[in-house]
Amino acid sequence: MLYKFIKKYIFYAIIYFMKIQFFGATKTVTGSCFLLEIEKQNILIECGLFQENDKEFLNYEPFPFNPRKIDLVILTHAHLDHSALIPKLVKEGLRCRIITTPATKDLLEIMLFDALKVQKNENHKQLLYDEENIYKALKQIETLPYQKTLNFNGISIRFLDAGHILGSATVEIKINNKTIVFSGDIGRTGNPILKDPIPPTEADYLVLESTYGNRLHKNLEESIKELIQAIKDTFKKEGNVIIPAFAVGRTQDLLYILNKSVRQGILEPIDVYLDSPLAEEATRIYLSHPELFDDEALREMRHPNRSSIKLHFIKSVEESKKLNTINSKAVIIAGSGMCQGGRIIYHLYHNIYREQCSIIFAGFQAKGTLGRKIVDGEKEVLILGKMLPVKAKIYTIGGFSAHADRDELLEWLKAIKTKPEIFIVHGEPEVIDIFKKSIEERFNFRCHCPERLSTYEIG
Ligand SMILES: [Zn+2]
Ligand SMILES: [Zn+2]
Repeated sequence: MLYKFIKKYIFYAIIYFMKIQFFGATKTVTGSCFLLEIEKQNILIECGLFQENDKEFLNYEPFPFNPRKIDLVILTHAHLDHSALIPKLVKEGLRCRIITTPATKDLLEIMLFDALKVQKNENHKQLLYDEENIYKALKQIETLPYQKTLNFNGISIRFLDAGHILGSATVEIKINNKTIVFSGDIGRTGNPILKDPIPPTEADYLVLESTYGNRLHKNLEESIKELIQAIKDTFKKEGNVIIPAFAVGRTQDLLYILNKSVRQGILEPIDVYLDSPLAEEATRIYLSHPELFDDEALREMRHPNRSSIKLHFIKSVEESKKLNTINSKAVIIAGSGMCQGGRIIYHLYHNIYREQCSIIFAGFQAKGTLGRKIVDGEKEVLILGKMLPVKAKIYTIGGFSAHADRDELLEWLKAIKTKPEIFIVHGEPEVIDIFKKSIEERFNFRCHCPERLSTYEIG
């Protein structure tokens, strides 16, 4: 008996056991969820919503793990494809702490309730969770600012600024001289408002996003010019500009850019209608965290010339409907960002068939979404039960993306001075394959492309 005990003890002292299981964002861009098992500790990283049409059913299936057995949850940022199933975890017995940055916690307080509202509006057969589950989840959150270390049973956890949306983080986990990094979503260098992403300098294992791993974005300056020109051209034709935008991140970037352009005199003080109560609240949260802004945004905030766009916050559905009576010279920003519901649908319905109008896409459009169909050039699309011809001018302006492009991702990797084994996630299958080749050619790092429900022993 004693011999057995000593043998077991020595075994654990020498070979500690680690594995990563992949539950989502595998060969797809949504549903991020990974389980890191270190000896007997279960650390869940992310618990996001699947948003592609053909994967939404997965949100309603039982978790492929027992939420009661999770010892710690770490959340990289507030976007729903990373966070929205957290209340479902709580509903199914999660009792442990949930670690996020302070700004992510602030954003979750509005986003999780909005996610529930969307479920209610869409008349789902079954709701994923209720208000009580959200309140309980929020109470379980403990915040960890960037660069501070949390010690959890001998495991060190640290957040680095990922520069993607307010509060977004890359997670660095250290145990017994091994470093495991989860990139979260990585932002662009030189993005508006936020500081640039901070890459880790060492990693033995890295779970890496690849959303735009096959593409290069235009630079921001060119994209701003394109946006301003698109607005001017559309207004000249007496049309409206419709911009589907994520309420958190893209909307604030666009408002910042439009305001700055007016202040610089390159744009008239145009009427901009922000038709998203969620985006309005998110904007308020952004403004309450100037410590996360880069120097340029701080200078802009304090600039003595305060000329700006005429910004109208649209609250009620009635006010939103009134916007449909405006025929020209309005910029309307509304969600959802991929046109999968939300008030944007009504604005598309009233403007997409008019050739005087423009629709500007400034964010990622996942496969199967209405946004993707329009971006891919379909001549007719089904909106609110009616086939409508796409006559409005369609712009895709990649430079406003909140995601690093291929070269920016490779630059981020360059900062890592060790030779990590990489697990590529959060990308479409063909993108992951191309990005894997780019990494292998440039760095000769070993790369895996995990399937859903696959497990890798590491350590
Ligand atoms: Zn994100
Ligand atoms: Zn994401």
